[in-house]
Amino acid sequence: MQTLAIHYTVSLVIVSVLISIGASFAALSLSDRVRAATTIGPRRFWLTSGSVAMGVGIWSMHYLGMLAVTLPVPIFYFWPTVLLSMLLAIAASSVALSVVSGERLTTRRLLGGGSMMGAGIGAMHYTGMAAMRSNAMEHYNPWIVALSVIAAAGFSWLALWIAFVPRRSKQNETRMRIAASVVMGLGIAAMHYIAMVGVHFTLTTIQFSMAGTVRVDRLGQSVIAVVTGLILLAAFGTATLDKWRFQDLQKAHKELMQAQDALLATQEELREANAMLNELSVRDGLTGLYNRRHFDAALDAELRRAARNLKPISLLMIDVDCFKALNDGYGHQRGDDCLRKVACVLAEHPRRGYDVVARYGGEEFVFLLPDADSYAARAAAESIRHAVQELKIENYGSTVGNVVTVSIGVCCDHPHVYDESGQFIRKADAALYAAKRLGRNRVEVATEFPVPA
Ligand code: GH3
Ligand code: MG
Ligand code: MG
Repeated sequence: MQTLAIHYTVSLVIVSVLISIGASFAALSLSDRVRAATTIGPRRFWLTSGSVAMGVGIWSMHYLGMLAVTLPVPIFYFWPTVLLSMLLAIAASSVALSVVSGERLTTRRLLGGGSMMGAGIGAMHYTGMAAMRSNAMEHYNPWIVALSVIAAAGFSWLALWIAFVPRRSKQNETRMRIAASVVMGLGIAAMHYIAMVGVHFTLTTIQFSMAGTVRVDRLGQSVIAVVTGLILLAAFGTATLDKWRFQDLQKAHKELMQAQDALLATQEELREANAMLNELSVRDGLTGLYNRRHFDAALDAELRRAARNLKPISLLMIDVDCFKALNDGYGHQRGDDCLRKVACVLAEHPRRGYDVVARYGGEEFVFLLPDADSYAARAAAESIRHAVQELKIENYGSTVGNVVTVSIGVCCDHPHVYDESGQFIRKADAALYAAKRLGRNRVEVATEFPVPA
């Protein structure tokens, strides 16, 4: 039996190794997409794409490797077996990818996945060899066959392990992926070329059927076409996916911004509504002046401030004279109008920022003048009394005259920190009572009158 001499075309050998490294890199990159997919559909899609990329890569490597072999007889391949070898490579790759795209790498998964991958590469190789039709009969050395499969499994374990490193350290992701791809690619090539060392061909004259066969150079051309197509497809697919993803991100970002704007607008409306509620809760509904609740709080605060600063503080207690007569004579509505007009006089009376004007009760108002002595307070009271009289609101029932007037009790004090606001109000009330007693439409100052206990 004549042993046939084998020659290798080095450039094709190099290309075959590079293809297997490239396919491994594409597959490992796609494993990221598998992991990122949250639903079963995209996960299956990326797993299939990755498996096809890697499987076709392994397959291409093998047939380019065979194209690199020159034998002195023509070589044909039986294409159904060629197809089967490709399917085996894809199946082996899908096992490897499932392992790499898992969240954790257990020893069992690593050993199982690596072994399946190694066995798959081996099965692909020997099925591919079985597809050969020529007058060269192959003879295998069983030890080297075993060694070639062990080498494939060993490289696969190592590659899967390296592929997991970036997920553990989160650093050097690209570098680690390249390293894993190189190991995996070299593993596939090593398996092939070790296996080729273990085979020798002898010349045979046995006739073989040409049905369903293609010539090796044709096969080589198809390999190159398939690989180029696959690379283009992968690049196009990934770019489209990134575009979709970018558009999705943009849409999500826009929606987020809109939601944020809506939230801010609602917050602003709430703030305004809150401010309005707060304002309403301290205002008197009829006159719009502060109500008694607000006045009581302001009085407490101002008394303490005056005590701390050793300053005087004055209070005017203002009461509409003969208001009952106005109500009785002109109706409740006219009474309300009168209260609003008096409130206007008080609101428009010149005052400082910390002066407080409020409606204290029915037809009674208060004017708090922090930092004002009795002279200033009396002057303010006189000015108010005069202004109300000048309104010339008719009240024929009044005992004072024909128009609405007010009586004002003034209290001025240098409060002590422990003083109660009640005492201060009672003093102003006593002065007001005195003003009523002394004929109404007048101002009286509290210091001159006894205060009821
Ligand atoms: P004096 O000069 O002593 O103050 O006599 P007066 O009539 O003003 O005082 P009196 O306390 O006898 O009457 C006050 C009246 O004010 C009694 C009440 O019906 C009326 N009144 C209280 N609140 C309102 C209000 O919001 N609107 C109107 N129209 N009348 C009110
Ligand atoms: Mg009254
Ligand atoms: Mg009154």
